[in-house]
Amino acid sequence: MSSADYQEKRDFVKTPEPQWRTSNDGWHRFVVQKHRARSLHYDFRLEMGGVLRSWAVPKGPPLEPGIRRLAVQVEDHPIDYIDFAGEIPHGEYGAGSVEIWDRGEFNLEKESADILEFSLRGKRLSGSYALIRTDNKKWLFIRRKEV
Ligand code: MN
Repeated sequence: MSSADYQEKRDFVKTPEPQWRTSNDGWHRFVVQKHRARSLHYDFRLEMGGVLRSWAVPKGPPLEPGIRRLAVQVEDHPIDYIDFAGEIPHGEYGAGSVEIWDRGEFNLEKESADILEFSLRGKRLSGSYALIRTDNKKWLFIRRKEV
């Protein structure tokens, strides 16, 4: 019997019992770190399933609808990385400075292997966004039109 069976039997407007929640329900944290490594890029990270799913965005996240930005998925990072800012020493992987460019919360609205749709509530980034996988590690980062 699945969590869906539990949910279907109950009307949570009427019962005080807890709802089944997956780790991706509701608002979770995101961060954008400006990373002056060998080449400047922006690391976009979403807190999902106990990790930070991560993409390197060379030109930075799109600020306006209609703009598409390449986002290259990189390895998941530990949750604590969400607060990291500082200097990665010369000779180390990703050597260079890291600063928090934006942070806030996101609400995941759609998730499949190749599409993530979410709303962001940050200081610089706010509104509806999507990441669409085009090829293995390559994704398109787009700002969706508000409905
Ligand atoms: Mn980076």
